[in-house]
Amino acid sequence: MDFELSAEHQAIRETARRFVDKELPRTRILEWVRAKQEPPRELFHKLGELGMYGFLMPPEYSGMDRTDPMGMIMFVEQLARASSALTTAYGRAAVILGPLVANFANKQQKDMVLPKIIAGETFMALGLTEPGSGSDAASLKTRAVKQADGSYVINGEKMFCTQAQSAGFLILTARTDPDAVKQEGISMFLVENPGANPAIKITRVETMGMAMVPTFAVSFDNLRLPASTLIGKENEGWKYMLHGLDNERLYHGAIGVGASQGIIDEVSAYVKQRVQFGKPLSKLQSVRHKIVDMQLRVEAARLLTYRGAAVLAKTGACHNEASYAKIAGAECYMHCAYTGLHLLGGFGYCVDSGLPMHFQDAKLFEIGGGAMEVQRDIIARGLGL
Ligand SMILES: Cc1cc2nc3c(=O)[nH]c(=O)nc-3n(C[C@H](O)[C@H](O)[C@H](O)COP(=O)(O)OP(=O)(O)OC[C@H]3O[C@@H](n4cnc5c(N)ncnc54)[C@H](O)[C@@H]3O)c2cc1C
Repeated sequence: MDFELSAEHQAIRETARRFVDKELPRTRILEWVRAKQEPPRELFHKLGELGMYGFLMPPEYSGMDRTDPMGMIMFVEQLARASSALTTAYGRAAVILGPLVANFANKQQKDMVLPKIIAGETFMALGLTEPGSGSDAASLKTRAVKQADGSYVINGEKMFCTQAQSAGFLILTARTDPDAVKQEGISMFLVENPGANPAIKITRVETMGMAMVPTFAVSFDNLRLPASTLIGKENEGWKYMLHGLDNERLYHGAIGVGASQGIIDEVSAYVKQRVQFGKPLSKLQSVRHKIVDMQLRVEAARLLTYRGAAVLAKTGACHNEASYAKIAGAECYMHCAYTGLHLLGGFGYCVDSGLPMHFQDAKLFEIGGGAMEVQRDIIARGLGL
């Protein structure tokens, strides 16, 4: 067992750390949070220039190496120190939907989408969840009915379709065979510029956190999609959805680790300079121990996440390890947001401290992309239970 990061992964981590320290100070992040506004595109272009969209992309599209989950994790961990929400805008393209397009779309579709993702030029949206189907996502009801000319007509509703308004592309799941077993009748479509399509109605959903990555209810009223928008084969969409889940869960683990470390760093600096009862708060045992317990959880979640990435890179799959990493990262983030806010006292309750943002954002990671109970069920099956 080798606990050393390779020189290449250390270099990615350092590049990312410098980028975050220079470009993403807390004051800048909070401007976007207050304005409920997406970060400027220019920020993502810079990430593209640094090659940070390439970890899971094929080399022929200028990606670095499609089998480098550890590189992805090194970067995600650093970006999440600044903001977990911002990291999801990156990850939806770089970790979840870009690799899906790279693995299952045809050449024409890849040529249209991948160069834009790799350059950091486009946001991506996923339309999977519906008002009636969340954890049980395969029970989705949005219909795609094939027409005589090979095109499809889409009717139905999606829920929590994040960045649907600004995304260059929406990856849409819809039922093409209503008579098949639920997982087997689903297809996937590539919809360009959903925000500009008159057959797509997009309505913002007010959420408690993630202010800079808005999420939407999206409905489709006789949306006609040409046959060329089908990704891969008809009725195979569910398999494509499952394919990238290991990377997605490790990425969620890394977000939890990075965001928690960001909180601990800020809180540690604060308690060293905040004097009460004649000494810095950091000299009070109960304060020191709370910080140590936060760091302990981060170290455990980090090791689980790195282990998952190492197993994935070596064997191509890491279902249990990825679920361990996702649970550990998400629960660590919730704990650190709660404890960190408490340790900053009244300042922690102020928006300027950044802790309310973390407090509001952290909860999503225990719900989205497979709730904690769903992850525990995956592990339980792996344990033969
Ligand atoms: C801010 C935000 C952004 C999102 N972005 C997207 C997006 O871009 N695209 C997209 O498609 N979806 C997105 N989602 C949807 C997200 O993935 C779902 O919310 C998630 O899968 C849970 O589904 P649900 O909300 O319908 O909860 P439900 O499935 O109704 O579950 C509610 C609760 O029931 C419990 N539960 C569920 N299943 C089980 C089980 N098997 N065993 C035990 N307990 C269980 C859990 O506690 C769970 O939290 C987003 C959600 C949010 C809140």
